[in-house]
Amino acid sequence: MFTLEELASDETIKKEYKKSLLLNIFKKLVVMMKRDDTMKLKVRKLFLQTTDAEMTTKIIVSKYFNFDLSKEDAHTMFQWINAHFNKQPKRKIISLDFKEKLYRLQNGKCAVCGEDLGEDLSKIQVDHIIPWVLVGDELENNYQCLCQTCNECKSAHTDYIFKKLINLN
Ligand SMILES: [Zn+2]
Repeated sequence: MFTLEELASDETIKKEYKKSLLLNIFKKLVVMMKRDDTMKLKVRKLFLQTTDAEMTTKIIVSKYFNFDLSKEDAHTMFQWINAHFNKQPKRKIISLDFKEKLYRLQNGKCAVCGEDLGEDLSKIQVDHIIPWVLVGDELENNYQCLCQTCNECKSAHTDYIFKKLINLN
């Protein structure tokens, strides 16, 4: 048995929380751009003109969130924002080959809880790690195979953290 404080200080959980915070900043940015066309144009213009993607992302995040991103996080955020701007309106159809490739990469286990996914590929869910509504199919490494339970309780990023908490036991 763990206390919440002990769990919260676990390195894996810390990493997940940090990623979750970053994702929340990104979500907020998307919402702000949806509400404010002028801001969206400004951000887009900065992105189109930049020769230094990480620096541009750092500037945007510090301007709108008063938050200083590390170079590494700025790089991740840049990829998300870029994917958002290039997002196609239609979902990509995931081929059975691609699913099988993912399945093998994950050794046939659910990416969140680690449970065996079974042999029946038709029952395995391919999930967008960063929700499709935010980045479409533009991010290459944004797919994972999930078991049905994890796919169903995946409404918020915190669900992942919760699953990981359970997994520590
Ligand atoms: Zn699972």
